[in-house]
Amino acid sequence: MSEPRRRVAFIGLGHMGGHMCRHLCTAGHDVTAFDLDPAALRAARRDGARAARSIADCVADAEILITSLPGPPEVEAVLCGSGGAIAHMNGGGMVIDMSTSSREVGRRVLKAARARGVEVVDAPVAGQTIGAEAGTLAIYVGATKRAFRRALPLLEAIGDPRRILHMGPSGSGYAVKLLLNQLWFMQAVAVAETLTVGVKAGVPLDRLHTALVNSPANSVFLERDVRMVLDDGDYDEGFSMKLVTKDLGLAVELARDSGMAVELLALVEQIHRRARLAYGDTAGEMSAVRLYEDVAGTTLRLRP
Ligand code: NAD
Repeated sequence: MSEPRRRVAFIGLGHMGGHMCRHLCTAGHDVTAFDLDPAALRAARRDGARAARSIADCVADAEILITSLPGPPEVEAVLCGSGGAIAHMNGGGMVIDMSTSSREVGRRVLKAARARGVEVVDAPVAGQTIGAEAGTLAIYVGATKRAFRRALPLLEAIGDPRRILHMGPSGSGYAVKLLLNQLWFMQAVAVAETLTVGVKAGVPLDRLHTALVNSPANSVFLERDVRMVLDDGDYDEGFSMKLVTKDLGLAVELARDSGMAVELLALVEQIHRRARLAYGDTAGEMSAVRLYEDVAGTTLRLRP
């Protein structure tokens, strides 16, 4: 490998983190991994990581710690406090948090890290589990220029180098990721509503979809992303409704903290919450589309 071999700790080996950890091993880094789930830890060991017994054991020897955790409470619990990772890291180390989390928790992490001479980078991702598996994730980074340069070689092992974007100082990565999800999940509702009305009005779905894709109303969501539902009835369980509603709640919080009124986002958040209630915490991220299908008493499928 052209980059120096780094001693990396990785915590949070779920749908996203498991693949990210594997890419770091494949890139030749010396990786020690930890997760509460023993099965996830066993998989990381098979991929070439050393399995740690605890958070403290995981970070004891690490230059850089990478986390991919469900959300703000887990990020704070894993990183802060006397049992947290930062308390056990060496001065001069770095934390890269790739979770979709909040700027508020990010500020508390930064404070704890500064007190120990540890740098912090927020680097949440987009691209679904398929992108994590392929190593083609987009990554939105909030950090000083120096910290960004230091984190970059590891991020390049995980994501698409053309889509690793330095958004600004600490917290900007979290903000951009929440805004991206805000827009994408708004489109999920808009497309589901539009297609179900069209089908109920008697327009064949294939003709409606083709017409809209070739119209000024087209979007990447309509042309590409919703196809997993339309072609295969796949609602993407790789990203759970529990995490979807977590992200939309954080987006509402971001707007509130920024002094903005967001009527549309508030409504869209509630629709996704209803979908989570209807189909459960582990249901896939496209469950709002299913909600519209059920209300309309139809399924949106291009093939019978
Ligand atoms: P996940 O629930 O599959 O994985 C989270 C992992 O963290 C689990 O293995 C869990 O056991 C572990 N964990 C939780 N608390 C822990 C603790 N205290 N100590 C150690 N391990 C702990 O979640 P995911 O889908 O991999 O998502 C991870 C992050 O990436 C989330 O913030 C999510 O919003 C974001 N994200 C996910 C996707 C996706 O498609 N899944 C896409 C973009 C961003």
